[in-house]
Amino acid sequence: MQTYDVIVIGGGPGGTTAARILAQAGKKVALIEDSHWGGTCLNAGCIPTKMLLGATAPQGLLHAQERVRIAKGSIQVDFTALQNRVTRFTKGTSQTLAKSLAALGIDLFEGRGVCTGQKEGQTQVQVATAQGPVSLAGTKIILACGTSSAAFPGLTPDHQNVLDSTDLLRIAAIPESLIVVGAGAIGLEMADFFSSMGSTVTIVEAAAHIAPTEDADIAKEMLRALTKKGIICHEGAKAKSLSSADGKARLELEDGTVITATKALVAVGRKPNSAGLGVESAGGSLTARGYVQVDAKLQSGPDLYAIGDINGLTLLAHAAEHQAAYVTRHILGETQSDYEPGPVPSCVYGGTEIMRVGLTADALLRQGKTVETSQAPLTANPIAQASGGTAGFVKVVWHEGHIAGIAAVGHGVSHLVTVAQLLIKDAYTESRLDEIMFAHPTLDEIIPAAIRAPKSSATGA
Ligand SMILES: Cc1cc2nc3c(=O)[nH]c(=O)nc-3n(C[C@H](O)[C@H](O)[C@H](O)COP(=O)(O)OP(=O)(O)OC[C@H]3O[C@@H](n4cnc5c(N)ncnc54)[C@H](O)[C@@H]3O)c2cc1C
Repeated sequence: MQTYDVIVIGGGPGGTTAARILAQAGKKVALIEDSHWGGTCLNAGCIPTKMLLGATAPQGLLHAQERVRIAKGSIQVDFTALQNRVTRFTKGTSQTLAKSLAALGIDLFEGRGVCTGQKEGQTQVQVATAQGPVSLAGTKIILACGTSSAAFPGLTPDHQNVLDSTDLLRIAAIPESLIVVGAGAIGLEMADFFSSMGSTVTIVEAAAHIAPTEDADIAKEMLRALTKKGIICHEGAKAKSLSSADGKARLELEDGTVITATKALVAVGRKPNSAGLGVESAGGSLTARGYVQVDAKLQSGPDLYAIGDINGLTLLAHAAEHQAAYVTRHILGETQSDYEPGPVPSCVYGGTEIMRVGLTADALLRQGKTVETSQAPLTANPIAQASGGTAGFVKVVWHEGHIAGIAAVGHGVSHLVTVAQLLIKDAYTESRLDEIMFAHPTLDEIIPAAIRAPKSSATGA
């Protein structure tokens, strides 16, 4: 039995960040990963999707210049070369990450880790490695096991024509047509990429609008952009069944409409990797939806922490890293305060992007709060004008004179997310904006313009 101060299960952004900080602080750390170092983010999430979108981004810029009759031409993306590049990059980065963690003195174990019980103040963890089972014991355990693609009854990927996001990321050739079920960030980014690559894309979203967690007017602008690109969007359309038939994907909606395509992507959410993890054996518990139940200190039991996707709080890589940094401070005795995420930034990437920090007007209105909004169009911004990407706007959501949220839709607006976050976090209002010198010309200047724009009362969608 090998003993550790801390055993971290899961080698994604949450687990690797926690292991690194603890090892640098002198703790004896074991890190267990059953698939690829770097987790979903590096191998099947944030990074490969952005590499795909990066390859098609020049097309959008060219089309924008074409629209103002300045340039013409075409850009051919070699999909096989792109896939090879993504594979090489993610594999290489994963290997480098493992080497850098090992160089810090972290013991890396490749295999599935399961908590098996507690004895003498330690939690036992069994790892099923290729060389056979290995038994470890740790004073503290951090669960950072992430999530996997979720499916609903009748909408289960068969990995032939009905795919999950990992299947689609590894597809060998561009499908002639693609159905995307679910218009959250993953669905929208995949739709954008495959449409740019020539697939005929149809999006089906059960909620009232695409990008269901965003304000309706932001979603409406996104819908306009996708439609202009040739993507067909069915909003408020509930999928009843999705299966492979005659070598194609066949989707039936609840209203009886049938849509067929070469492939279909199920992007309806994620489910926690908690089954068989032995959370109870480690003194913790699960929520009804299978996430690891955590308290305000991200603990599920006295010596058990859960960070990142697996606790279900915020399914984003930067949230996993932020939570990891907090629990390491807690374990090292550097804080006794509750975990405080601050305003959470999120983005949808692609030719037309969405970014948001803080709350939407709709969310505040649902809480019965008074809400005002102010906004500025991208047409007023010189950098947006220069790139030709002037569709879209920045919207500021106000509650009692304070900024409760900033959201934007349009070309390149993901670059605004950190400025928006800092302004909200430091409680800026119009009167304090002069403390900051915004560089000119930058896309960033659209944010003070939106903050200074006249406010109007919001009444909901
Ligand atoms: C297509 C796609 C695009 C995305 N794009 C973005 C984006 O642009 N920005 C963003 O912030 N987020 C994005 N995400 C979400 C992001 O990937 C996750 O929020 C993030 O990876 C969560 O980090 P984590 O450390 O909690 O878990 P993960 O990254 O999922 O890592 C957990 C690791 O633990 C391993 N594991 C699980 N169980 C065990 C076990 N019992 N023993 C050993 N190992 C185990 C898993 O194999 C996995 O490697 C995207 C996700 C997807 C699917």
